Amino acid sequence: NMDTSNIIGKQSIIEGQAEIRVSSEKVFYNPVQEFNRDLSIAVLSVFINDYRKEKAFKKCEKLKSEGIDFEDSHDVCVNKIPVTILEALSATGLRSIRYAKEVSNVTKIIANDLSEQAVETIKDNIVYNSVDNVIETSHDDACMLMYKHKHHSKRFTAIDLDPYGCPSIFLDSAVQSVQDGGLLLVTATDMAVLAGNSPETCYVKYGAISLKTKCCHEMALRILLQSIEHHANRYSRFIEPILSISADFYIRVFVKIYSGAFHCKKTTSKLSMVYQCVGCDNLTLQPLGAFKPNPTEKNPDQVKSFLPSVPPVGEFCVHCNQRHHLGGPIWSAPIHNVDFVSRVLNHVEENSHKFGTAKRIQGILSMVQEELQDTPLYYILDKLFGRVHLETMPMLRMRSAILNAGYQVSFSHAAKLSIKTNAPAHIIWDIIRTW
Ligand code: SAM
Repeated sequence: NMDTSNIIGKQSIIEGQAEIRVSSEKVFYNPVQEFNRDLSIAVLSVFINDYRKEKAFKKCEKLKSEGIDFEDSHDVCVNKIPVTILEALSATGLRSIRYAKEVSNVTKIIANDLSEQAVETIKDNIVYNSVDNVIETSHDDACMLMYKHKHHSKRFTAIDLDPYGCPSIFLDSAVQSVQDGGLLLVTATDMAVLAGNSPETCYVKYGAISLKTKCCHEMALRILLQSIEHHANRYSRFIEPILSISADFYIRVFVKIYSGAFHCKKTTSKLSMVYQCVGCDNLTLQPLGAFKPNPTEKNPDQVKSFLPSVPPVGEFCVHCNQRHHLGGPIWSAPIHNVDFVSRVLNHVEENSHKFGTAKRIQGILSMVQEELQDTPLYYILDKLFGRVHLETMPMLRMRSAILNAGYQVSFSHAAKLSIKTNAPAHIIWDIIRTW
């Protein structure tokens, strides 16, 4: 449903319910990102619904506990919860315009860009699309603007970061300017850095060493999540990833942000270093911490120990006796919230006529839903067999063998022929030996 044509020297682009006009080649528009925008609209629609209900419920409970008699029913309360969105790097304004037209119950959107030409284009486009009552433009550095909104009374319900390349310079201000329980949406397109081509640069930008591994796309997601968590922790805040997607040439994560110094103590148990064998490519995760609920405490969540309780990874790989490369830390806790994902999937199924990329979203989210949530990373079938110079076993046979050995297996949405499994590596090598 995307159409581009030339109207009096301006290129007109129709995507979703927005029609934008771009007169300058200097203003960035990428048609390939339609999937990213469609998916973000679906995620925001479901998220905002949840958010307003949760906030209204809390507000009602608080009023009740204070003994205040209030006449509003819960539904009236829900309608009074304001929802504000910041698109910090807006370019043509297309994304903000689509949010204004296609996501229900948005009170206000700020579409910001550092480029004067971009801001002029956004202004034209919001008038042209009759959404100037919802969207305000801003001509500022994204970080400066977010810092101005870090006080909790000024924070946004959702912040969307869609920069060229790496988002890391925007993270410090972004994690401070999202409301409690609010949503941060982040794109990263510097896949070469995240996928192990430049591990030192990755450390400089994201605070983690990337590895050249077959599961680099999921590793990229986990490096970005680790980085956002690290920024959030500095302000006693922490993340809950609700959906993390690898697509085309970029990754996109959707994380809720909460405050709580106590919960931040659990961060180390959500992170791991990654040992990659230089011989057989085998990956071993070494958690940074071990969160242990303490049943003797009144609060069952009480953290008892922060120290790793797992044996250290040996100097030599147990499978082929070679040394390791060391990568990470990566986020090794779940990267999606399955219940949330299934509601986004329902939303897209019910509104499929509204999304140009509905089929693709449905395909990817169905795979995401089936991914083993507690098993980070994966093997790639043909690469495993290539490593030992064998013809590749059919996927079905490999999956049956894993299941027969008593373990779980799924695909990953991030790679074709992926094998995500909780089977230890020696079981996988045993299966390969039987081939
Ligand atoms: N979100 C847009 C979309 O979906 O079409 C695309 C955004 S484009 C990839 C990145 C934009 O960020 C450019 O328009 C650029 O001018 C702007 N930009 C770069 N650095 C910035 C900064 N520090 N503050 C605000 N905007 C910035």
